[in-house]
Amino acid sequence: MKIGIVGCAGRMGRMLLKEVSASPEATLVGGIERPGSPATGTDLGLLIGGETLGIGVGDDAAELFAASDTVIDFTTPAATVTHAALAARHGSALIVGTTGMGPDHVAALERAAQKVPVVFAPNMSVGVTLLMALTERVAGLLKDDYDIEILEMHHRFKVDAPSGTALGLGKAAAAGRGVDLDEMATRVRDGLTGPREPGSIGFATLRGGDVVGDHTVIFAAEGERIELTHRASNRAVFAKGALRAALWTRDRAPGLYSMHDVLGL
Ligand code: NAD
Repeated sequence: MKIGIVGCAGRMGRMLLKEVSASPEATLVGGIERPGSPATGTDLGLLIGGETLGIGVGDDAAELFAASDTVIDFTTPAATVTHAALAARHGSALIVGTTGMGPDHVAALERAAQKVPVVFAPNMSVGVTLLMALTERVAGLLKDDYDIEILEMHHRFKVDAPSGTALGLGKAAAAGRGVDLDEMATRVRDGLTGPREPGSIGFATLRGGDVVGDHTVIFAAEGERIELTHRASNRAVFAKGALRAALWTRDRAPGLYSMHDVLGL
């Protein structure tokens, strides 16, 4: 499978370059960065501290999509919207790990998914995908007797909050309870908040250091507490999941898929 990477000089982009270039099932056809990026022209191999690969960082997205069976995108919501249109135009599958996506951004993925397979997951790790499935199951079993709180911590450079994964866990909890997260979420608390809204799903965000990604879903009742925790200690888990998703799109019908689909959950 011919795989291209957009945002290839980013933290995740470099991880993806490593995973894709090392995979016997994939051929790395190229990587691009935003126009004007200082990385432009740098050999992709040197970018990841390895041997030269003879492919420089490009800035022509259309060219990359035309050359790729599947493109992996961990960039920004605005860039991902542009890439979704290119995927549809050039018939390449798209794997989207970008977080902070609002309804308009997701609508762009839905449009592309009418033409090509699109896998979109705020967290591509196998462990978090399982945590989401467990959260939905436990929330469904416990109903409203237990207050649900979702705690996340990430490195100091993360720009969106709560994390896409935390919101995904919130959605899973809401689905388990048969409610709508947008109606039940308490995303921030500050000052004189009054008592907890019954049935709400609360979020708490921590930022600092080099934390790759910690998520805990807490089910708290009077007298006991259940906590489900996932800790990512290396970004490679997300890149491995994204590569698995990319390979999974081979001969797949157009549609918007999640990591649950990729893992067959
Ligand atoms: P980063 O800032 O290090 O990398 C993003 C890269 O995208 C940068 O190099 C930037 O120049 C590039 N970029 C921006 N606009 C572009 C464009 N138009 N064309 C090409 N390249 C462009 O950020 P990061 O830590 O690598 O994270 C990227 C995104 O992935 C964030 O939204 C983050 O939350 C998300 N993320 C998702 C997962 C997951 O499993 N789904 C895991 C980790 C991070």
